[in-house]
Amino acid sequence: MRHVRRFVALACAFFLPAGAFADTATIKPGFVQPFAAHEMVAAANPLAAEAGLEMLKAGGSAVDAAIAVQMVLNLVEPESSGIGGGAFMLAFDPKTKTTTSFDGRELAPASATPGMFLGPDGKARSKLQVIPGGLSVGVPGVIAMLQMAHDKYGKLPWARLFQPAIKLARDGFPVGPKLARTIARWTQMGDMPDIHRTFYHADGTPLKEGDILKEPELAASLSAVAEGGAKAFYSGKIAQQIVDAVQHAPRNQGGMTLKDLADYRAKERPPVCGPYRQWRLCSMGPPSSGGIAIVQILGMLQHFPESDLQPGTLSEAHLFTQASRLAYADRAKYLADTDFVQVPVKGLLDQDYIAGRAALIDPKKDMGKAIAGDPPEKHAALSPQVSPVLHGTSHMTIVDRDGMVIAMTTSVEFVFGAEIMAGGFLLNNTLTDFSLQPEIDGKLVANAPAPGKRPLSAMSPTIAFDKDGKFLLSVGSPGGPAIIEYVAQSLVAMLDGKMTPQQAIDLPRQLNLNGPTRLEKAPANDALVPGLKAMGHDVMVQNGEGSGLHGIERVKGGYIGGADPRRDGVVIGD
Ligand code: GLU
Repeated sequence: MRHVRRFVALACAFFLPAGAFADTATIKPGFVQPFAAHEMVAAANPLAAEAGLEMLKAGGSAVDAAIAVQMVLNLVEPESSGIGGGAFMLAFDPKTKTTTSFDGRELAPASATPGMFLGPDGKARSKLQVIPGGLSVGVPGVIAMLQMAHDKYGKLPWARLFQPAIKLARDGFPVGPKLARTIARWTQMGDMPDIHRTFYHADGTPLKEGDILKEPELAASLSAVAEGGAKAFYSGKIAQQIVDAVQHAPRNQGGMTLKDLADYRAKERPPVCGPYRQWRLCSMGPPSSGGIAIVQILGMLQHFPESDLQPGTLSEAHLFTQASRLAYADRAKYLADTDFVQVPVKGLLDQDYIAGRAALIDPKKDMGKAIAGDPPEKHAALSPQVSPVLHGTSHMTIVDRDGMVIAMTTSVEFVFGAEIMAGGFLLNNTLTDFSLQPEIDGKLVANAPAPGKRPLSAMSPTIAFDKDGKFLLSVGSPGGPAIIEYVAQSLVAMLDGKMTPQQAIDLPRQLNLNGPTRLEKAPANDALVPGLKAMGHDVMVQNGEGSGLHGIERVKGGYIGGADPRRDGVVIGD
């Protein structure tokens, strides 16, 4: 089957009429180049992907391209990611055949306390109440992380990578469909002055698709960081602007200081890896829960035959949701920032432990609420997971001509983050990924806020390798806690279902976060409802899901990719 897919990709490459490949001036959201022989970018917006490809064509590495993509995303998809946020980057280096990860997760300022999100009644305030303003803003990590990755893997000069974004910010760019939709849908944010000033016309109407947006203030900030590196972000004028915005926010003022910014450090960490049949998966470890959950879900599923895991079948939907329930139960109990809490990483990834968890799955009956397991090596307990959110996140996958692969998921957390801006960019609200309720039964939960701590994430940039250790495919997504499910479902579809990245990404989503079985409304999912109900599933069908999957697969002679039709993403290459 896989060779059929390769043939199709190659046939497309050789027989498509001239002009079928990306003309960078005319790429529209949703454009998926059928094949690229040397290098490829899959990202959430055409202008951002073009900036990445420009760097690759200029001899840049995948890391260089990722930096250029991120800077343009800050303009064109500001509701999802930017330099005021945080990110995780997985990097496969073909020379050493090793995968590493860079952690640019935001962290809590020194003023953070476990009870920072409690109201006067001692109860946690609602997430929507505490998001807008300064209190929810974590010390941003994107710039420090990108500089760390660039120091290790960059080929082009740092400043060069900012040029496309600076030009677009100065000259203006047409607002894309997703940004226009988002502004129109979140009109209540119009009462936050920074949002109003930037994303609304003077007469109070929201910017529409195609309106030209110019951002001179952001251009100045990007120029300063292009010239001065991370130092120009974490100290001096920009740092002061961030502190002022947080401390004097129109609501929920926060306590971030210049010292918090000066003290921020990105971290290089080993990725979390594990087997899936003949393949090997690597993904992001703590402070993300994503990698561990994905290795667990697929680790359980490999105890069932490939034929039972074909996309669209009842057996696949059932088994997938059961493995997911078990992984989410562990996630909710054990996961948090390993710099602060002893997370039983090894125990949770132990193959015998995972086999024992798989044995709990009844192939014919929903197990109901799964309870966390008892991994062989464990310390922590009680970590209520990130509460469900609306999505302010973006994922890109990039392969360069040396075969280096970057999978980067980047976020401001909620739509438009904390809804306040500094230096022309939005600030994140990532501290609300901490457990807002810091204690249960008088015990401090693992994911409670603390100074210098990183909130738990679900972001799961993932790379799969073949049995020879060669890069096979990579995928990642936004979606809050559901990210794990979006990524795991598409991995199963590509690996067991032999689907192309695009076919896997197009699939209607199926997920279970250890609650109801959630199906994205689509005929293929509707057909499964009676069968799942008969097996005892509490089925919830909903219109649309917030995935934004972008992925790339190596095929004979080059690469094919996929972009999520639920967003403005594209795949382009050379
Ligand atoms: N902040 C979330 C996390 O790190 C992601 C939010 C989203 O995808 O919208 O898990």
